[in-house]
Amino acid sequence: MTALQHFKNISVFNRSSSFLAYVSLLFVFLYSGFCDVGIAQSNSPEDKVIMGIFAHPDDEILASTIFHKYIREGAEVVLVTATDGRLGTNDYNDYEAGDELAEVRRGEMKCSADILGAKLYHLDYEDQLKTAEGFDGFVSQSQGLLEDLHRIISDEQPDVIVTFGPDGFSNHIDHRIVGVSATQVVLSKKWEKIPQLFYMGFPSSQLDEMNMIYRGTLDKYLTVQIPYSEQDADVALEMARCHKSQFAPQMLEMWEKRMQNQEKVVYLRPFVKPNKEADDLFEYSLTTDD
Ligand SMILES: [Zn+2]
Repeated sequence: MTALQHFKNISVFNRSSSFLAYVSLLFVFLYSGFCDVGIAQSNSPEDKVIMGIFAHPDDEILASTIFHKYIREGAEVVLVTATDGRLGTNDYNDYEAGDELAEVRRGEMKCSADILGAKLYHLDYEDQLKTAEGFDGFVSQSQGLLEDLHRIISDEQPDVIVTFGPDGFSNHIDHRIVGVSATQVVLSKKWEKIPQLFYMGFPSSQLDEMNMIYRGTLDKYLTVQIPYSEQDADVALEMARCHKSQFAPQMLEMWEKRMQNQEKVVYLRPFVKPNKEADDLFEYSLTTDD
């Protein structure tokens, strides 16, 4: 029976059907009440997919504490690392930039994702996405990255994406490119499941003036502040230990001490969908609130 036929049949019910209709209405009301409970439950992390889209092997550490927290609570985490980290040389080791370092960092990234318990897409773009080769070098990398992110988001259908905002968290060009690419892909079409975007943010109040200009976000825009536990911090540290080519043991010791004393919170800025249409530029203003 089609829905239309069903309603036609209801219309020819005799008078006693009004009682039935009342009972049905009551049932619908009660059922919708249960549905509300269901909707509330659907906000639970259980079975949700969180995707972290970052530039380099080791960037995932920035959100690792809250990723672990949500894994503990039943969510799945998918990590996307866009570049191979081949240019990540430093004073702590003798690696030279190039294929060998890229291979080492691929292993380190896998170690980190395994400790977290996350699925990993490690793409093979070079650090700086060939910007050194000028327009032609960069454009093919940039277009390839957009296509890859589109494919991965289509396949994984994340509920939430955590990535970099316009500041790149550290003002790094790769962080910025990866963050805007993720944003561009999400905003480009009507997704079956629209992922909520969040940008990692560093509160301006915790930075000096120059760093505030380079990478700060005014505290009031960081409206999502997620607490994490000691256990989550321990896992984050364990993940950082995988990145032996990036972090010297002394650095990790310092970091461990700092983490013990600092506030256990990760700050994020949600991408907010515009909530009104306008035909005038000045209908929108960030200056009218406090
Ligand atoms: Zn990075």
